[in-house]
Amino acid sequence: MGWVVAVRGILSAMAPPRTRSKLLQQRVHVLLGRVYSESEWEALCNHCGECCYKAEWVDDRWVATEDPCSYLRVSDNHCRVYARRFEAEPECSRVTPSVVLQGMLPEGCTYVDEMHQIIEDDFEGEDPRLAPRAKNLQNPRERRRARRVARRRSG
Ligand code: SF4
Ligand code: SF4
Repeated sequence: MGWVVAVRGILSAMAPPRTRSKLLQQRVHVLLGRVYSESEWEALCNHCGECCYKAEWVDDRWVATEDPCSYLRVSDNHCRVYARRFEAEPECSRVTPSVVLQGMLPEGCTYVDEMHQIIEDDFEGEDPRLAPRAKNLQNPRERRRARRVARRRSG
């Protein structure tokens, strides 16, 4: 179906956590952005519809409410206006690496899982959004990951 490349409410009242390092966020951003082609990126979505519920900022994190977007058909998580969703719903935004890093997506979202995988693979489990020091993007782990991705694409 591929309909959910949007998340509601991202642009309103965003307050990034103070502890996150901009440089390190940029490093994960680069990794998230370059590993996938556009179609591969969209295919990551598991269509759970969780990001189509209004979220509230509670205790330094976004928490989904029980309040769905009026265009979400909750019986099957289908967006009824997908082709014109950005016009129909001004708070609906495309899911990008930046959105993933900003913590706007719920746990269980496959984009969040991918970010955690990158953190595990490339930052040895240390969340670069919280760590004080940057690591070299050209480190051996990153090169291994690039080779894995290249193999996956060619195979
Ligand atoms: S318009 Fe609503 S239901 Fe459709 S993708 Fe955006 S937030 Fe989800
Ligand atoms: S929460 Fe993530 S996996 Fe679920 S529909 Fe939204 S973008 Fe897709």
